[in-house]
Amino acid sequence: MPEKTNKYINNELLSASNSTCLAEKILIVDDEKLHQYSLMELMKQNGYDVDCVSNGDAAIDRIKLKNIGIVLLDLNMDGTNGEDVMRFISKNEINTTIIVVSGETSFEAAENALKHGAYDYIRKPYSIDNLLNSVNNATKKRQLESDNQKMHLQLRESEKLHRYIVNKSPDIVYILDNDGRFTFINKRIETLLGYKVKEVIGKHYTELVHDDDMEKARFKFNERRTGKRASINIELKLKCKNNDQPRNFDNRILPIEINSVGVYNTHDTDSNKKFIGTYGIARDITDRIEAEEIIRFQAYHDMLTRLPNRTLLNDRLNQALTHARRNKNNLSVMFLDLDRFKMINDTLGHIVGDHLLQAVAMRLRHCLREGDTLARLGGDEFTLLLPEVNSKKDAELIAKKIIKSLKMPFKIDNHELFISTSIGISHFPEDGESIDSLIKHADIAMYSVKGNGKNGYQFYDNNMINAYSKHLSLENDLRRALDNEQFEIYYQPQINIETREVFAMEALIRWNHPERGMITPGEFIELAEETHLIKQIGNWILQNACAELKHWRNMGLDNIRVAINVSAIQLEQSDFVDYVLNILAKNEIPAKYLEIEITENTLMHDTDDGVLKLRELSAHGIKIAIDDFGTGYSSLNYLKRLPIDTLKIDQSFIRDMSNSDEDSSIIKAIIAMAKGLNLNIISEGVETVAQSDQLRAWRCKNMQGFLFGRPMPCFEALDMLKNNTQIKMHLVK
Ligand code: C2E
Ligand code: MG
Ligand code: MG
Repeated sequence: MPEKTNKYINNELLSASNSTCLAEKILIVDDEKLHQYSLMELMKQNGYDVDCVSNGDAAIDRIKLKNIGIVLLDLNMDGTNGEDVMRFISKNEINTTIIVVSGETSFEAAENALKHGAYDYIRKPYSIDNLLNSVNNATKKRQLESDNQKMHLQLRESEKLHRYIVNKSPDIVYILDNDGRFTFINKRIETLLGYKVKEVIGKHYTELVHDDDMEKARFKFNERRTGKRASINIELKLKCKNNDQPRNFDNRILPIEINSVGVYNTHDTDSNKKFIGTYGIARDITDRIEAEEIIRFQAYHDMLTRLPNRTLLNDRLNQALTHARRNKNNLSVMFLDLDRFKMINDTLGHIVGDHLLQAVAMRLRHCLREGDTLARLGGDEFTLLLPEVNSKKDAELIAKKIIKSLKMPFKIDNHELFISTSIGISHFPEDGESIDSLIKHADIAMYSVKGNGKNGYQFYDNNMINAYSKHLSLENDLRRALDNEQFEIYYQPQINIETREVFAMEALIRWNHPERGMITPGEFIELAEETHLIKQIGNWILQNACAELKHWRNMGLDNIRVAINVSAIQLEQSDFVDYVLNILAKNEIPAKYLEIEITENTLMHDTDDGVLKLRELSAHGIKIAIDDFGTGYSSLNYLKRLPIDTLKIDQSFIRDMSNSDEDSSIIKAIIAMAKGLNLNIISEGVETVAQSDQLRAWRCKNMQGFLFGRPMPCFEALDMLKNNTQIKMHLVK
């Protein structure tokens, strides 16, 4: 509050100077007019300002006004006499100098007058020199006294001002004696550390310094520095008084920056100066230290997950490599990429995505050992440095632990999310000698995991480079594939084992790559989703598969359904429902002949926009199937709430059912559940008659798989539909 301070200071100083202001006159008090006159003339001639009165009462009235410096006072007057006037002055402690000018010649009279406070006693008839001398001396004395008083006042004010400034200072101001004990400390100590000033006075400074910094403090305070080095700056942590004190001082350690100056007795010679103590200023630098820490933290960490960033990882990797080379140790670098993260981010929004990343980071942290570094390099990519692995086996164990730890669903903002990760591992020294090559090779190994169906780990292998560079060019090629008409739809029949008829065809995309030949969707659908190209590709499939169905219907095959896979990203399109309805209308297809297949994990939450769209589609009569059922982590709840018509049991269960009791049980459970919920059920990936028989025995009559027909080009599909012979052939025992 600088304004208040100024006002305060100005007022105080003004009042101080007012009280000592000298605007003084000489008052002549004499009942003889002649005397009065001659005195007045004399004084005026000598430059004095003069007033005259002829009796004691008038004199007192005049003196009361307090601007009379010197009174030239006659003693013998009628009524109130000179002595009465003197008594009045002394009683009222009026600062007026009395010079008695009297006809009384007795010694007693003079003694009496001096006793009453007279400055001088001059007998009438007076010598002019004597009188002027006396008046001049009295004036000088008064001037000196006044100056003196003024100085005192100013000193007092200045002291008050300094005390005020010191106590209001945002810093701690202190003085230590030569033992290091406080002889002065300002009030700031009370608000900053919680001590009362009087508690601190006499205390040794070490009682306030935090243990961490004790050595530093002792060294600096004990150093006897002189000259230019007398002043030092050090940063120290101080202890607050009570840790249980509310608010300000909870467990707080106060970092301060101390400017301390040694004080020496200036009377001693330079070489033999005696140390008197230290004075200094201690500034609270908590905010600065915190800000510095934040800046330092930000420079080396990813702010979302608070994990080390690339810079810190490189730094640690560098150290670890040096160490490993020197000690001929191994080390591993893992590159982790979350599977399907982009989809979650795109469909549920960045806030959910961010929260998921934080939760993932937390779980990953629990898989680490001391000394391991987990860093986030951006997006959904994490890198893990394992500086102390004895063999690849160690790294493998950690990779497995990570995969397992991410298996449990994440509860994020009311969503139950499932995520897995693909981990590529490179090993020093065989997979690279430098930071860059180790990270790059771990990255390449990670891509290889992605290419092989994700959710797993792989060690780097030189053979992976080929596949990796192919992956890089794939994205560019994919962007051109639609324009260049490289996509084609294959159809795979879905049959009813009891009637032995095809009742639907699933549309499965194929990419005829000019150089690489036929590419299956497993190799490019995720890329298409990541790049959002899936929207255009998906629309193209809807258009073409429906046009094909119309063609079949025109040939009289009007009881066939087409099943089309739709990814979550497609559902994001605001006009998706209208788009689908328009296609159906254009091709004159009743809605029930279109089935949309979505995977379990597309449906994160039943309030999602995507789910609302599915409900709308269902309300129009379009069928909804859950694809790859059993591989995700769908909760039974949503099965009830969503407009689902069909569950497609994932082919992995069918594949292993003959030698896995667990898979058999799952299949039976899914079938039972579907019946309970009144849903259609279809088994995917049926390859053998044994599987088909078993499924049939379990009362699953709808099947799809190589046993009944591989995905085939449209003309073959039409052939099959026309006569259904191929199916019947397979089924003949
Ligand atoms: P999906 O929808 O579960 O399709 C079934 C996949 O299993 C097809 O693989 C099919 O060729 C394969 N399959 C069918 N019967 C058997 C069998 O008896 N044994 C074995 N081993 N495999 C069988 P495909 O065509 O490679 O498609 C893979 C996945 O790619 C599909 O799985 C689907 O999720 C996705 N996909 C395919 N086409 C599209 C599309 O047009 N849009 C979208 N969004 N995804 C598509
Ligand atoms: Mg499907
Ligand atoms: Mg499937």
